[in-house]
Amino acid sequence: MNSLAAKQIFSWMLRLSAQQDYQSLTHEFLDILKENACINEVSGYEIYNHKRKVSDAEIIDERLIRRFPLDFTKEDDAEDNAYVSNADHVIGVSTNEADAQGFCSWAILTVKGGNGPDRAVLVEGKLDTHALEMLQNLREVYQNLVVLHDAKERDVLTTLPNRQSLDARLMQVCQHYCNHPIIDKINDKSSWLAILDIDHFKRVNDNFGHLYGDEVLLIFSQMMGRKFRYNDFLFRFGGEEFVVVLNLATQDMALAAFNRFRAAVEAYHFPTVGKVTVSIGVTHIDQTAMPSNLLDRADKALYYAKEHGRNQVVVYELTPELVASESDDVGEIELF
Ligand code: GH3
Ligand code: MG
Ligand code: MG
Repeated sequence: MNSLAAKQIFSWMLRLSAQQDYQSLTHEFLDILKENACINEVSGYEIYNHKRKVSDAEIIDERLIRRFPLDFTKEDDAEDNAYVSNADHVIGVSTNEADAQGFCSWAILTVKGGNGPDRAVLVEGKLDTHALEMLQNLREVYQNLVVLHDAKERDVLTTLPNRQSLDARLMQVCQHYCNHPIIDKINDKSSWLAILDIDHFKRVNDNFGHLYGDEVLLIFSQMMGRKFRYNDFLFRFGGEEFVVVLNLATQDMALAAFNRFRAAVEAYHFPTVGKVTVSIGVTHIDQTAMPSNLLDRADKALYYAKEHGRNQVVVYELTPELVASESDDVGEIELF
């Protein structure tokens, strides 16, 4: 290897290994690929495979392909990319057939084995054997780093992003609304933060044991994956608490979505454990919001739901007692 090539490879490795989270790692990886003269187009995807039980006898596989990075401000970012779908069974790099001069026009790099969805990168260009060898090697490095980031940023039991990932994502969403203020808080489509807390979960553990408790958490997280939309962000906040950042929804749509989920949990018969319910505290993400006060408002709404009978959705902004108590807090701060 000549020293120029060695320098280039070192620089790529440094750039990839310097990234602190999965999002920035993947941005950097796509940028590195794009810098190659033989590559014209690069697209990243996340592939979510779900098993859905339609009856006692039938379980169907459902697949959702999500473009990376997901644009949470646009409808219909989901893609049924035929290349990516077909490459699903391949591990490594797959390509179309080379032309007479030995060039392939596309390659798919698949990444599996992390504690999250499968990932795929579609590379289009004029790819000879050297280019394909470089893609093979870069894919392996990227995969190793994805596995590490997944271990740090995702919860082992449910594989949902964890609390740490929520903080970063919430900052990003708040930043967006700071730059693009919502005019009509009720009728414009915007984002909503909800904390979902399973009711009397301690009793589940006490009556059936931790293993069954864990099973409830797993099924609950899978229900979240099916009931919310591809452009919503889901997290395990900790213990029996989950968070949803619901995007592109008016107030009515948000309330309906959370109530639909609440009702679906209530109607579901959990194996052995039976009935479980959930309380949900919701708040609107507006241009003035900071992640910490959003979580505080959602938490207050959740507490209100718990105090008023559980198994219900409470929206902070629609609960005069909560809004009034916040203005009291502000008054106190100003006073002292
Ligand atoms: P509430 O309706 O007020 O939310 O009551 P609760 O019993 O759900 O709430 P509490 O905070 O008193 O108890 C939460 C329980 O969740 C206590 C803890 O044992 C259990 N828990 C937390 N994390 C896990 C976990 O990873 N697995 C299991 N099985 N249980 C967990
Ligand atoms: Mg709790
Ligand atoms: Mg609870």
